[in-house]
Amino acid sequence: MRVYNFSAGPATMPLEVLERAQAELIDWRGSGMSVMEMSHRSKEFVTVAAQAEARLRALLAVPEEYAVLFLQGGATGQFAGVPLNLTAPGAAAAYVNTGSWSAKAIDEARKYVDVHVVADEKDSNYTTVPAEGSLEVPGDAAYLHLTLNETIGGVEFPYLPDAGEIPLVTDASSTMLSRPVDVSRFGVIYAGAQKNLGPSGLVVIIVRRDLMGRARPEVPAAMDWTAMAEADSMLNTPPTLAWYLVGLVLEWVEEQGGLTAMAERNRAKAELIYGTIDRSDFYSNPVQPAARSWMNVPFLVPDPALEKPFVAAAEAAGLSGLGGHRSVGGMRASIYNAMPIEGVQALVDFMTDFEKQNG
Ligand SMILES: *Cc1c(COP(=O)(O)O)cnc(C)c1O
Repeated sequence: MRVYNFSAGPATMPLEVLERAQAELIDWRGSGMSVMEMSHRSKEFVTVAAQAEARLRALLAVPEEYAVLFLQGGATGQFAGVPLNLTAPGAAAAYVNTGSWSAKAIDEARKYVDVHVVADEKDSNYTTVPAEGSLEVPGDAAYLHLTLNETIGGVEFPYLPDAGEIPLVTDASSTMLSRPVDVSRFGVIYAGAQKNLGPSGLVVIIVRRDLMGRARPEVPAAMDWTAMAEADSMLNTPPTLAWYLVGLVLEWVEEQGGLTAMAERNRAKAELIYGTIDRSDFYSNPVQPAARSWMNVPFLVPDPALEKPFVAAAEAAGLSGLGGHRSVGGMRASIYNAMPIEGVQALVDFMTDFEKQNG
């Protein structure tokens, strides 16, 4: 029996993908072996890998002048990978702080670059993004970094900042593929796979080729974008099973109608749950409406003592993973691409009942 899984990551996957993986697990398309048992240099796996890349390129309309990498080390690895690949020692970079993941990216970057925090949403308790047009990026910044969607705070940029000639670099871990995005506006986009792309173990990096070749000599080989691009992300053994599963998820997104269709669905799901929260005096979400995430919806009940009973009763009703992040408490519903609207409907029905009994 499958539950509706609202976990923030690793997160729910499309059932069709799991069924397909199950059917192919023991004998992948007549090869007599599982994908996880194949050499990453085999013709079969090289095809699996190339198809995943081609699908990602098609879905996001990635321009030719961008390389697509499938690496390990998660988004966290790229918190270091970004400065190591884009700057020389002594350089500066600009960062926007909209919450927990931005802060982690900033802390890691400080090991390598002089960080200018050009906007810090602390005053709103991280419930806002900087106003459009308000960012002033110092000319010595090698890049401007932002977190498109804060997975813990549930804050998502409703616009893309413009830093002129300074490349825009983004951690898109929890919003990648949730809606169309203009890749050409970015220098680098990176995203850990375990939110919206598939299982954990992979980080996808889309990097404009003219930004390659700036890596420090001491960059670890496993994080060297240029070397990895030249080796088709196979300088060493990649996480083959995760890569294959991401390919199946991309095929599923294609079958659903691509990113325009995903965006319509995700908007409808988000409206359903925010609408329920806003109509009630019991639930609340503190995020500025324009910056509310379509993917991660944190919410509170009036009395923190009701949080544990809420999560337990939800679990018993087949609604899993609703506890808030350990750093902030409360509740959080992650409603990635693979969460069907029926799951969100079941959640809001549960919320309405819980309010009647406890409100
Ligand atoms: C989950 C997440 C990360 C961390 O990803 P890892 O793969 O655990 O390194 C970083 N940034 C954002 C926005 C995330 O949602």
